[in-house]
Amino acid sequence: MSVFNAPAFDDHEQVVFCHDGSAGLQAIIAIHNTNRGPSLGGCRMWAYASEQEALHDVLRLSKGMTYKSAMAHLDLGGGKSVIMGNPRQDKNERLLRALGRYVDTLGGRYIIAEDAGTSVEDMKAIGEATRHVVGIADKVTGEGGTRSGDPSPATAYGVFIGLRAAVKHRLGRDDLDGLKVAVQGVGHVGYKLAKQLHEAGARLWVSDIYDDEAQRAARDLGAAVVPPEHAYDQEVDVFAPCALGAVINDDTLPRMRAKVIAGAANNQLAEDRHGEELMRRNILYAPDYVINAGGLIDVAYEREPGGYDRDKMLRHIERIDDTLIEIFERADAERLPTSVVADKIAEERFKKPV
Ligand code: NAD
Repeated sequence: MSVFNAPAFDDHEQVVFCHDGSAGLQAIIAIHNTNRGPSLGGCRMWAYASEQEALHDVLRLSKGMTYKSAMAHLDLGGGKSVIMGNPRQDKNERLLRALGRYVDTLGGRYIIAEDAGTSVEDMKAIGEATRHVVGIADKVTGEGGTRSGDPSPATAYGVFIGLRAAVKHRLGRDDLDGLKVAVQGVGHVGYKLAKQLHEAGARLWVSDIYDDEAQRAARDLGAAVVPPEHAYDQEVDVFAPCALGAVINDDTLPRMRAKVIAGAANNQLAEDRHGEELMRRNILYAPDYVINAGGLIDVAYEREPGGYDRDKMLRHIERIDDTLIEIFERADAERLPTSVVADKIAEERFKKPV
């Protein structure tokens, strides 16, 4: 297996293969770029079919974090880790501590956080072996309580800010009153986004593969429930993907009625060319890694020397608005897809050291 010639290899700085036979650990840490600062990114645990598949995922995901951090104005680079194994069967504290020891050997060049297949509790176990971990601090919430981990409220807030900016740019309106929005997936982020939209006066169409999640939005927020397979066909102003990746594809694009796509899901474009297709159809796309950076900003603030400052963190998330406006205006001026412009701006920011 070659790393340097792997299809997803893209000038990565460091790739670390971690093995601890007695703990049952097989993991890979990839550091894509540290020009802006230490790399930060989640740890995904997944029953990968092969080492190649795990390598492909970690190379791709770590690169994505470099772009996301640069666009969020964070002094961080891009990194990610993957554990090969089934999170429901193979995960235990020993294995997590073994990974924590590997993270520690990197001396802070990689900071680990939770991702699919790992939890706050897992990060606490990793934190027994390294201090280079985020997402475990207790934080004060807006309601005066405390919470630990879960970055989804911050992500939802950022998506709300970004959706509003996209609506203003494409539809020329400041308020969301009566705006029709289809939210695909009303889980951690999607439900919180739907709630903010409802409070701002928007009308909602929601879909979820779990009917109880969709019914909760119907009951609490007056949303209309649509079957998941009809999520794309709704006569709405905005489509907000908050479930899976690759939902903008050859099958869904011709069905899309919305004039704006703004949601939390990662990797929304099935292929890069779908960004061009959106532009051709005059649908404004808020690039996913720009609009969904709220959770990353939230955990990054745990590392502030003065401690976690919720107000400062929220003000930082609100800058997603300016970033998107810059992307939209440049995309108009250069007649380029917003996805291409976002990549260009990110590269301008991380290709030279700050
Ligand atoms: P989640 O698992 O809590 O919610 C996802 C919801 O989508 C679930 O309710 C699920 O049933 C539903 N769903 C799955 N397939 C669906 C389909 N085909 N149609 C309709 N609904 C479907 O996850 P989450 O934390 O809310 O994250 C949602 C998306 O946002 C993911 O793509 C995630 O990678 C991305 N994201 C999340 C965060 C965060 O802070 N949680 C940060 C950045 C990006």
